[in-house]
Amino acid sequence: MKIALLSRNSKLYSTRRLIEAAEARDHQIEVIDVLRCYMEITSTKPGIHYKGTVLEGFDAVIPRIGASVTFYGTAVLRQFEMMGTYPLNESVAISRSRDKLRSLQLLSRKGIGLPVTGFAHKPDDIEDLIKMVGGAPVVIKLLEGTQGIGVVLAETKKAAESVIEAFMGLKADILVQEFIKEAAGADIRCFVIGDKVVATMKRQGGEGEFRSNLHRGGTSSLVRITPEERSIAVRAAKTMGLNVAGVDMLRSNHGPVVMEVNSSPGLEGIETATGKDIAGMIISFIEKDSLGKSTRTKGK
Ligand code: ADP
Ligand code: GLU
Repeated sequence: MKIALLSRNSKLYSTRRLIEAAEARDHQIEVIDVLRCYMEITSTKPGIHYKGTVLEGFDAVIPRIGASVTFYGTAVLRQFEMMGTYPLNESVAISRSRDKLRSLQLLSRKGIGLPVTGFAHKPDDIEDLIKMVGGAPVVIKLLEGTQGIGVVLAETKKAAESVIEAFMGLKADILVQEFIKEAAGADIRCFVIGDKVVATMKRQGGEGEFRSNLHRGGTSSLVRITPEERSIAVRAAKTMGLNVAGVDMLRSNHGPVVMEVNSSPGLEGIETATGKDIAGMIISFIEKDSLGKSTRTKGK
């Protein structure tokens, strides 16, 4: 197969591993920086230009689109889809997963367990907003944040009110969430490919830190998940329409709750923690799933 790997940096661990895995299986793989692609969209034959040449003949495309280039990156991916190239994750599903509110609304509609969550832009009654999610302590999140930045634990009602007021001053959309204390600073990452959880790890925040992000000094370890957690992870990925996803959940007193579904889950943490060849599994999934289908785009 001829595979396009949409990535801004060929030195990144995940990019390098996917190249290795594709080449080990005798595929041709080319790294393409989406920001340098340009496209003519009115032609009856959609195409993509890159560094003065036309990108042609790709059987599959692996999007590794960073959060900061979601808008342009998904447009390039959509162009590949219009050309009939099979996308590992389709553009519509990636856009969907990048919108936290939209994601949580979709997951909730499917009855998937979530932390009790409220969202707001400029609430007139902050006290009622806090009461709505069960009262302090609450976690307050900036909708635009990633890697744990803009995620604040407010232990008291007073603290919660001032954080919400401060965020409102930034004119940001915010999420106010029940604090899952019993998770004890740990979350579980389930790596989903197709309809299977192929690897799992537990991430534990550093001393005195409720956020488990590895970027915030968290450490990862092996974990066994329950059949219920496995089924929730697969359903969460399916709800988003993602073939490959990193589903993050917390173990709460009222069962597993999903916090986030990542459409470009990193490979380094999970391969290191589990010793599994996730990149190889992704390539072999593409070999099977792309057969006979060009694109599965359901959105318009
Ligand atoms: P980001 O998308 O920026 O990583 P998250 O919403 O995933 O932000 O939050 C970062 C971390 O904070 C999570 O991995 C989890 O460990 C912790 N956390 C987030 N929300 C809650 C919550 N409601 N209760 C307990 N811990 C939480
Ligand atoms: N940056 C990746 C994304 O935006 C998430 C990486 C990860 O936490 O696995 O989807």
